[in-house]
Amino acid sequence: MVDLVVRGDTVVTPQGVGAYDLAIAGERIVSVAAKGSLSIPDGARLIDAAGKIVMPGGIDPHVHCKWFLPNPDGTAGLTDPPDVVTRAAVHGGTTTIIDFTRASQGGSVQDAIASREQDWKGHAACDYAQHLMVEGALPVRLFGELAEAIQAGFPTIKIFTTDITPSRKGRMVDFGGIWEVFKVLAANGGLGVIHSEDNDIVMHMYEKLIREERTSFTNMAEVHNTLSEDISFRRVIRLAEKVPGAALYMMHVSAASGVSAISEARARGVPIYGESLHQYMLYTSEDYRQPNGQIYHTYPSLKSKEDQAALWAGTLDGSINCVATDEICCTLKQKTQGARIDDTTGGNAGVEPRVALMYTEMVGKRGYALSRFVDLVSTNAARIMGLYPRKGALAAGSDADICILDPADKRVIRAADLHEADYTPWEGRRMEAWPCLTMLRGKVVVENGGFQGSLADGCWLPRRIDPEIVSGPRL
Ligand SMILES: [Zn+2]
Repeated sequence: MVDLVVRGDTVVTPQGVGAYDLAIAGERIVSVAAKGSLSIPDGARLIDAAGKIVMPGGIDPHVHCKWFLPNPDGTAGLTDPPDVVTRAAVHGGTTTIIDFTRASQGGSVQDAIASREQDWKGHAACDYAQHLMVEGALPVRLFGELAEAIQAGFPTIKIFTTDITPSRKGRMVDFGGIWEVFKVLAANGGLGVIHSEDNDIVMHMYEKLIREERTSFTNMAEVHNTLSEDISFRRVIRLAEKVPGAALYMMHVSAASGVSAISEARARGVPIYGESLHQYMLYTSEDYRQPNGQIYHTYPSLKSKEDQAALWAGTLDGSINCVATDEICCTLKQKTQGARIDDTTGGNAGVEPRVALMYTEMVGKRGYALSRFVDLVSTNAARIMGLYPRKGALAAGSDADICILDPADKRVIRAADLHEADYTPWEGRRMEAWPCLTMLRGKVVVENGGFQGSLADGCWLPRRIDPEIVSGPRL
């Protein structure tokens, strides 16, 4: 029984952009038909989206909620929980986010998964999934547990090739450990999601800049530099190429050297995908010198204009497939509490404006086709992360996760109007559109800025990577 029909003249479907009716019954889209061809059953609601853009809900594949936040004095706090971040997400048209579960902290992987679910169940206004993060020296028992977890719907494993800063020892997995994880991923159809920097180069630069007393965070791009991205990406890719069936998703690509490493590997047939971040697309290391310049930072670092141009080119040639946030939702005070190369807070607020901001930059300013923009903020993440076609598509059988963007709403972003941190890196930017309605599995959760959802709405999403995605470079 159809409960809702969304009728639009610009509806982004897998078959193309056009005038369609979407019929929704319960949580799913049940049919996609020519505009005006579906009758509206008694009691059903018609949502008229004339003049607007109807697209699948945004998917942010890189978000940290209730996350360890190191303070410069050695203590640690926690970032905002899913209660805050998921509400902000649906206000901005994002209906699925992928968070992280620390899976090698002593107990079993399965215990870590159960414990992380306690942080989420009943605390989520949008749907969610979990990457499993493994850190440090990996005990032998872990590999069997990871294999079991992949089969249970957790097919992506996050690995750091660096400790990031000298004070965060214990994050990096050595190359032997990474090799073993790749074997588990390959044998079970999983995907490695990698924070890839060359630890020797990064730690060498920390020593050098500290010795030279150039410790201001404005020098971050010298520490987390393009050479490190070049060498580390190529080393990780080489390792993956030696493990038949291993596939990679490179997180937060920041440099032209990273883009080249991905595109060259894709040309050789390696199943590899690239993610960049909203702030890497729009800010450079020059912006560290702005007032509160830390708000533009996340690790590795902002780079040059040339690097930024390569990231944009990557969104057109297939080497950058997703634009995520690396969400760390905290206060301006926390975000700016460190000002050195070795204590500046990473991550960024932005899960709410991401879809509108990327629409503005991609479709508005750069003339991207609507379908490419939707791929970069939703569909590709669903395809790569094992959520497609349940998520990321307006198609019969898919979840009715819908964002309706209103191009008449050309608002200026103000942190005070958002639902996340008390600052935004996008303060004062004029948007070319803003979401006027967000639907999660058939339920209107935000309409005209009013929240109608609940923290009980979000569901955990089991995932399984499409064998196509891990068998060669797709998308
Ligand atoms: Zn991250």
